[in-house]
Amino acid sequence: MKRTKLKLSKIGDEPEIFSSIQGEGLNTGKPSIFIRLSLCNLHCVWCDTDYTWNWEGVKHIHNNELRDSYKKYIKREQIIKMSVSSIVNTLADINCRSVVITGGEPMIQQKQLINLMKILKNIDNKYFFEIETNGTFIPTLEFDQLINQYNVSPKLNNSGNNKRLREKSNAIKYFSSSKKSNFKFVVKYREELSEILSFIKRYNITSSKVLLMPEGRTKKELDLKTIWLVELCKQYNFTYSDRLHIRIFGDKRGV
Ligand code: SF4
Repeated sequence: MKRTKLKLSKIGDEPEIFSSIQGEGLNTGKPSIFIRLSLCNLHCVWCDTDYTWNWEGVKHIHNNELRDSYKKYIKREQIIKMSVSSIVNTLADINCRSVVITGGEPMIQQKQLINLMKILKNIDNKYFFEIETNGTFIPTLEFDQLINQYNVSPKLNNSGNNKRLREKSNAIKYFSSSKKSNFKFVVKYREELSEILSFIKRYNITSSKVLLMPEGRTKKELDLKTIWLVELCKQYNFTYSDRLHIRIFGDKRGV
């Protein structure tokens, strides 16, 4: 077994690996194991996993920093290295074969993930890997052969990221032509629809691959957007994605 280590998000002293149900996207409601990796190449102002990147010394400003009580995270308290073999052992104790690899931006650690997925598939070929990505990295051939589903979430202007950083055309073209991909857009205001329509036209993405998901960290915030977002989905033949974990557990980690 290769001795590679992954950088995972840390809760207390433990890596953020947990079993729950998928709360977003095409597999909503499916029992799944979540592996949350640390690090991100983007800095979305509304990111709900800002502990994976918004550490002391990071120049970018998260919306939460407008609140007096918010402080940037201390990196060593939020990141933990875990060997591939330890992750395999942890997963072996869980009676579930659907794995959601999330972050942060997990595709920063493709090489290590290849090792992890290879070992798990060797143990049981029924392992199903879906990855949540911001769509800025092109998968290697080896990585692609192991992944079952790409949940690509391109970032819009509302994320506060520079377009040059958030829209990598070669990567988007790769995902738009992959049968394994779906595109999940986080929507804050209905005016963002024109930006989404222009994006999917630019990359020739069919409506059947598109999901619209409300931005929100509370049930109330989601409810305010659901009605008009569902209407837009009906109008354009997109799929609505809820955030079921927020409705069930609230904005908590590790659930
Ligand atoms: S790409 Fe995802 S993890 Fe990275 S800052 Fe944006 S929302 Fe957060």
